[in-house]
Parts: sequence; structure tokens; C-alpha cells
Amino acid sequence: MEDRMTGWRGKRRVVDLGIQRAWTEEISEEDLKNYIGGRGLNGKFFLDRVDSSLSPASPDNPLAFAVGPLSGTFAPCSGWTSVSTISPVPYSSRYGHAALPGHWGPQLKYSGFDQLIIRGKAERPVYLAIEGEQVHFEEAKHLLGKDTVETTVAIQEERKDRNIEVLCIGPAGERLAAFANVTNRFSWTGDHIGLGYVFGSKNLKAIAVCGNTPVSLHHPDRFLQTCLSLRQRIHRDPHASRLREEGSFLLLNRNGRGFGIKNYTEASQPDAAEKWRNAYLTNYQYGKEGCFSCPIHCGRITEIEGNYFGGLHFESAWSLGPRIGIDQWEKTLWLHRVCQLQGLDPCSTGSLLSWIMDCSEKGVLSSQDLGPTLCQWGDEKAARQIIESITERKGIGEILGQGCLRAAKSLGKGLEEAPHFQGMDLPARDPRSSIEYALTRALFPMEWDYLQSLSPSVPAPPAPAHPEESQGNGMMEGIVSLERRRVLADLNSICPLVAARLSLLSASDMGDLLSAATEMEWDGQPLMAAAARTMEVEKGLWQRFGPEKMDLDPFPLRLFNSPEEKNRVIQEKTNDDGLNTPWID
Ligand code: SF4
Repeated sequence: MEDRMTGWRGKRRVVDLGIQRAWTEEISEEDLKNYIGGRGLNGKFFLDRVDSSLSPASPDNPLAFAVGPLSGTFAPCSGWTSVSTISPVPYSSRYGHAALPGHWGPQLKYSGFDQLIIRGKAERPVYLAIEGEQVHFEEAKHLLGKDTVETTVAIQEERKDRNIEVLCIGPAGERLAAFANVTNRFSWTGDHIGLGYVFGSKNLKAIAVCGNTPVSLHHPDRFLQTCLSLRQRIHRDPHASRLREEGSFLLLNRNGRGFGIKNYTEASQPDAAEKWRNAYLTNYQYGKEGCFSCPIHCGRITEIEGNYFGGLHFESAWSLGPRIGIDQWEKTLWLHRVCQLQGLDPCSTGSLLSWIMDCSEKGVLSSQDLGPTLCQWGDEKAARQIIESITERKGIGEILGQGCLRAAKSLGKGLEEAPHFQGMDLPARDPRSSIEYALTRALFPMEWDYLQSLSPSVPAPPAPAHPEESQGNGMMEGIVSLERRRVLADLNSICPLVAARLSLLSASDMGDLLSAATEMEWDGQPLMAAAARTMEVEKGLWQRFGPEKMDLDPFPLRLFNSPEEKNRVIQEKTNDDGLNTPWID
């Protein structure tokens, strides 16, 4: 089928699992121009079509996947996919979106679509095989209980296609753990919003997708030249080189300050953090892996005792290491591997474990609450038992699988120790480590990922190439401006780490790529306007699907009330001059 326009497909695929039917809808040119792609298109879909009374487990809760006009092309770092749904993670369920790295989105584009909407609930477990225009609803009973690696391999063998991209859940998603994730190609995960739970609630084990329709470009030569020059710039950039060599461990700052240890009761110390990172890079880093069309390859391949696996990044390693009092890498890596195979978000798992260990030490939770799974700091064996109880949904695992905030509410204990903001887990970086960072968490709690743990080792972004990207004069303007650039990256399926955090691809660069790909001329202004529009839509969706009071459950007060704990955190130097503060050393 011929595309309506260049760059985009101009179409969405809608699949109803309940009646096992699929159909195609046109996406209006106005929406494409105003929202471009990714989370812009997803947000607009929810705004127009989704009723506010939906719960995460409702069959009508849509799973929306979208890519942008650069997806599936030679544009650098353009392999990301935006996924949106009503999320089970915050205690009052809300609209949530996750950015999925890897290789899945470009295949959706090659199948002929910019967006995929999945609704309904299958009567029996199924997996979807989308092969070009064809959608197959396949029995998945034989896949139940299989981990994420076994599931991926089994589907590829069944389809007789090693290149089909599989996005699947593990046992944690089948058993409806609220922080279950989805995995593409063994390593790349969509975390933080409980996508695995929503898959599981729909009896959907996996979505395999492939296609062979190339993306048509308006000015192919101009597009190629732009891609080549941007790739050259990335290759020459010293920070991109460091990202290639160290992976996301680059984000651990030069002095290793400001990252929470033992549920934020201690702060990282410079030498120890550096030693911790170097131990991984020297002893366990085996190789590198990358997303579709990425010239950097920041993903790490880990080797341990003759086993090889990808998917480890700084935040997940910290969450299952120092954050729960473990400083031996072997223990962290095996815990990480268990989460990966079971399809559990490793960061939220670490957050939950840190809460249990903290509560156990303080006597807030006892063996009467937790049974045999009571565990102390650094107790890797007990941590494994807890993970097992969640993925098998047995005993206390039934409650713990809801995440630490809901578990604290169910047990009526440990609320003050629960590390969260508005129901979202807190990342590794301590919110007290800088004013900007705390405000960023407070303003954008759904942007839960290690990219917000940006640290002084990463340079201040260069001066914006275009006035629309300007960070403004004040701290708040700076924070909002940085998040807007991150949203812009998402609209274009571009890696937010490369575009927004390292500033290696500006709005002007994306405008050049879009002008060559589509039939329109773009510059920074309409692009930044599309990002701002998307943020407005998401704000509206949060109000529509969120709790009545948006100010419920702020940062746990203990982070600020206890002088003892406060004094343990080494404060970064701050000033009121704007966003450059977190980079000042
Ligand atoms: S830098 Fe890393 S996360 Fe970003 S596109 Fe490349 S491999 Fe993926």
C-alpha cells in the first residue's frame, strides 16, 4: 500500500483482542503536523478517544505504541518507541508513557504504520504476530511461564523468522505484578509504568512485528547528507565517545556524590562510587550493544561465570546494588538477571527491596508482616525469595507485587519509609542532591529514568543553536525547557539521552532531518511548539485520569525532617542562576 505522505505512513493499526479483529484508520494531517509522532500522537489519541473512568485492567484501556517520521530511517539514534496506557503504577492510576529503546518501533513502521492501538482482552492467552498488513492472533498457552528470553526465541522459531522483533512479558506480567515491564530483543525494556501488567491483564503475552515497506523520503539525497554529517559530529564528540566506552555509568558523577544508599539513609561517597563503577567496567563488561541506527552503542553486554547478557545500565545496577546495601557485583548481576528473565522492572524492584530492608532494620515491619521473607541490608538470598514470591504471586508476594507504596498502605505500615513521589518510585539520585533535580522530579514524576540522574561529569549543554531551545533565565524555565527538548526527542523517536541530555542533536538538527524527510519545511519554532502542545495534552490527561487532588503524597517527609539523614547527604553546590547548576562541580 502506498504512503499518503513521505516520512509518515499517515495510518494507525487498531487491534481488538476481544473480537480478534484488526483495522486501519487514517491519522489526520493536522494531527501529524501538530503532534509529529511518538507520545504526541499517543497523547492526542487518549485525549480524543479514551474515557476517564477506565482502570488499568479494564479491557478498554488502550495500549498505544507510536513512532515518528524519522523512525526506520538512517537518522542517528532513531530506534525509540513511545508507549502509553493507563498505568497501574501510581497508587491512583494515571495516564502513563514510557520510552522504549531498542529495535521494535522501526519494524512497526516497516509494517506500514505510525501507531498501533491494542484494545480489548483476549479470552485465552495470545500473542500477536504483525507481519506487514497481516495481523495473526496466535495461541500462547504454551508460552505461559516462559521467561523473556525463552518467549522471544520460541516466537522467532514459530514464525521461522530470526529477525522478527518481539516485545514480550515474563511471568511477572502474567501474574499481574504492578511493576512488570516489557522486553525487546532480550535487553531493551519499557519500564516504570507497569506495561507488563497491562499486557498480562489483556492476556497478551507478546507482540511480534516485522515488515518490509521502506520509508519514503521527500529529498533522499539531502536526508542522507544530513544524516552523514550528524553521525560524523556524534563520532567526533568526546562525550559520545565516553558514553560508548562507559555506557550509562557515565552518569555517575565525577565524585560519585548524591546517589542514595540503603533507601536514602546514606549518600554515596566519592571513592567508593568510583571503585564500584570501575569494578564493573574492568571485571564484568564484555561488549557493547546498541539500538536501531545508533552510532554510539551505550548498551553493555555483561559476562559473569560464562554467562552473557545485555540490558544492564547504571540506574538498574545501582538499584540492585548500593541502594539495597549490596556492594558485591556478582550478587547485583544475578539479581538483575532474575528481574530481566522474569520481566520485572529492576529499578522498581530495587526500590521495593530497599523499602523492605529499611523497614526491617527499623522494626517497622516484622516477620509477622513479612513471614520468612524478612530481609536485612545486603541479603541477596532473601531478595531472591521476595522476587520469587512476587512472580509466583504467593504469600506476601501478593501484596508486595503492588509496589512499595500500595504495599505500605495495605499493611498499614512503612508509609514514611516508602521511596516515592506521587506514587512513582524515586530514582537512584537523592532528591536532596540539588534543588533543580528535586524540582524536576516534582514537576515530571512520570519521567522516571536514569537520564534524570544527570551529574556533574556530563558537561553543560552547549548554547542552544536556536532561540526556541533557549533555557530561559530562571531555574523553572530551565527545567521546563530541558523537559521540552526531551519530549521533542520522543516525538521524533530519537534517543532522549543523546538529544536532550547530551545535546548532541538539537531541535534545528531534527528540523533539518524532518525537512528532508517530509513535504514540509521545519525549523526549531514549530518543533518546540509541538513539544509544548504535547506536554499540555499530557497535563490534561493527568488531570483527567489522576486523583482529585494533585498534591497528594509529595516526597516522604523523612527526607527533609530528619537532621541526621539530611546531614548525611553531601549537598551539591547550588545557585539560582538556572539549569547549569547541576553541572557545576
Ligand atoms: S545512545 Fe544508547 S540508548 Fe541511545 S540510541 Fe544509542 S544505544 Fe540506544
